Amino acid sequence: MELFKPMDNIENGEEKTKPEGENEKVRCLIIGSGPAGYTAAIYAARANLKPVLYEGLQPGGQLTTTTDVENFPGYPEGISGPVMMEDLKKQAERFGTDTRWGIATAADLSQQPYKITIDDKQTIEADSVIIATGATAKYMGLESESKFMGYGVSACATCDGFFYKGQDVAVVGGGDSACEEALYLAGLCKKVYMIVRRDVFRASKIMAERVQNVDNIEILFEHLPKEVVGDQNVNGVIVHNKKTGEDYKVEIQGFFLAIGHTPNSQVFAEYLDTDDVGYIQTQPDTAKTNIEGVLACGDVQDSQYRQAVTAAGSGCMAAMDAERYLSEKGL
Ligand code: NDP
Repeated sequence: MELFKPMDNIENGEEKTKPEGENEKVRCLIIGSGPAGYTAAIYAARANLKPVLYEGLQPGGQLTTTTDVENFPGYPEGISGPVMMEDLKKQAERFGTDTRWGIATAADLSQQPYKITIDDKQTIEADSVIIATGATAKYMGLESESKFMGYGVSACATCDGFFYKGQDVAVVGGGDSACEEALYLAGLCKKVYMIVRRDVFRASKIMAERVQNVDNIEILFEHLPKEVVGDQNVNGVIVHNKKTGEDYKVEIQGFFLAIGHTPNSQVFAEYLDTDDVGYIQTQPDTAKTNIEGVLACGDVQDSQYRQAVTAAGSGCMAAMDAERYLSEKGL
């Protein structure tokens, strides 16, 4: 028997249920549960906006796929990604955030109140919407990649590079991100192999020149990773040389993917201004999109920094922009 059933949910001794087809109305709807979404929730809840937060496809966001986070200020000994996200969630809930399972599957941002469909069935009407759906790092799709995720496979050198100090690593990709990651890792690691599938870089000339001028970076043009190998942790990658047709093992301890990210903005793309890749465009120094009361924060609007701390900062901005919008409109 449930002892603490809230009284306003009981009518004539019967539990009330929402009539079919009736939409729930909220003042501040947050979509996404990474550092941006939870920080927005903490600020929105403390501003008494009574936020409802839908956690999305990967509750806790990308940090739940990493092991230790050592660059988030305030944790001198570092903290595990999943634990940090659980703490952020608890902090958001402590101030009254209503966190729920569910994925935004459709959106109608054409007029107030905005309508967001959850899991293709329920529609939430919202006076303000904070989009914090993040970005998804692209992976090659190898089975061994998922097996060693967090045990040698990573899609973020800034986050995980430090664990490979003095060791050998590989970076897959030939774009600006791959070059940036390789340069970062070259400052920490003994040797960095760049695995580039074509015979040229996609990266800007200046970045391509930089990596080619670093002694401990070796570029394997026209190579493709076939399989990541190891026991508990990664100890190598089998690469395919497209020129010779030969497969061989490169001994490495860290395997970094830098083949691009996909911002999770598809559901809102019909209404919001995005760049060519799909990153939501926000007005400078704000979290405001081209639709008033619709804010974006975190990696879904950031192709440059993509850090937990920058995401958290932009989540704070989004909640403050939502609060100002709601009070200006008297909503
Ligand atoms: P890009 O799409 O520019 O580059 C992706 C790279 O990964 C390409 O070399 C691509 O090869 C390769 N790749 C893609 N899929 C695979 C695969 N399945 N197997 C092997 N290789 C693959 O992504 P980035 O993240 O590098 O950059 C995104 C945007 O952000 C760009 O506009 C970039 O300029 C910008 N950026 C700018 C920075 C800066 O200015 N400092 C830093 C980081 C990013 P191929 O070329 O053959 O398609």
